[in-house]
Amino acid sequence: MKAMVMTQVCDLREDRSPLEMRRVADPVPAQGEILLRVLACGVCHTELDEIEGRTPPPRLPIIPGHQVVGRVEGTGGGVGRFKKGDRVGVAWIHSACGKCGFCRTGRENLCADFRATGRDVDGGYAEYMTVRQDFAYAIPEVFSDVEAAPLLCAGAIGFRSLNLTGLRDGQRLGLTGFGASGHLVLLLIKHKFPKTRVYVFARAEKEREFARELGAVWTGDSDEASPEKLDAVIDTTPVWKSVVEALRNLDAGGRLVVNAIRKQNIDQDYLLKLDYLTHLWMEKEIKSVANVTRADVIEFLKLAAEIPIKPEVEVYPLEDANRALLDIKERRIRGAKVLLVKAGRLTGS
Ligand SMILES: [Zn+2]
Ligand SMILES: [Zn+2]
Repeated sequence: MKAMVMTQVCDLREDRSPLEMRRVADPVPAQGEILLRVLACGVCHTELDEIEGRTPPPRLPIIPGHQVVGRVEGTGGGVGRFKKGDRVGVAWIHSACGKCGFCRTGRENLCADFRATGRDVDGGYAEYMTVRQDFAYAIPEVFSDVEAAPLLCAGAIGFRSLNLTGLRDGQRLGLTGFGASGHLVLLLIKHKFPKTRVYVFARAEKEREFARELGAVWTGDSDEASPEKLDAVIDTTPVWKSVVEALRNLDAGGRLVVNAIRKQNIDQDYLLKLDYLTHLWMEKEIKSVANVTRADVIEFLKLAAEIPIKPEVEVYPLEDANRALLDIKERRIRGAKVLLVKAGRLTGS
């Protein structure tokens, strides 16, 4: 089969084609696994973190991609949950140990043996992939393939972030950064918390304009003060400035939830602006978001289908994955980016 393969860690400013279209061995489903013909795969900022070495794959080459929508093409032994032809999704959580204290208390996202799709095992930038049946999800009918893909990471992790803010209807929320996840959180808020006012902080005017179209009451640059204090902020940026400025904008007792797998160290100096009285005093809190659980994905897909939440997507063919990644890197963003995959037949090679 064909796949866009990551072969090395590199700097995207120098190497503008980090992934290579290659012919690789067809994946074969093991016991308890299903084989998927990939239909669509979302492109996530985390892929930049993998490629640029902030969360590098433990082995190379690897096929990235962790927001996968596919059709069941075959099954290994012992598969009862899905049958040939079913449309299913795969998310960032590839597996967890299932036995540790975290796994047994619904916090498999924190498991020391957490394995990530498209980083620790091959993902969906490919014509086919395999996944354990208990880490695959039925995709609701209401979504097209490309609409469903970004729900599996951007949506599910946005949902987890929103839950971690502890927000109640009518409370004021800030979003710093307005990429795939931010826009899905805003759509979710409109239905879940209709009285909540959302303030969006983004560098690019295009992103701010898009946020206002979707219902943000105010938008500004990432270092601006919001017109009123905020009860919670979700930060999806890779930089430290947003952390410091978000803490300043929080009201007493407010909570900042940082939804970023890694921060870049380009503006770490900004942390020196942190002043206890301005940024932390009065019981302000900071919490990071790590990975997702299967329950996050299942609950979010159900909610998104009920509302329904239709993400705004920009579609690229699989072979243009490098262009999609550069567009994220260089902030040419409106909603979520998705690779459309037109898989050929398996050749058995
Ligand atoms: Zn992701
Ligand atoms: Zn575990």
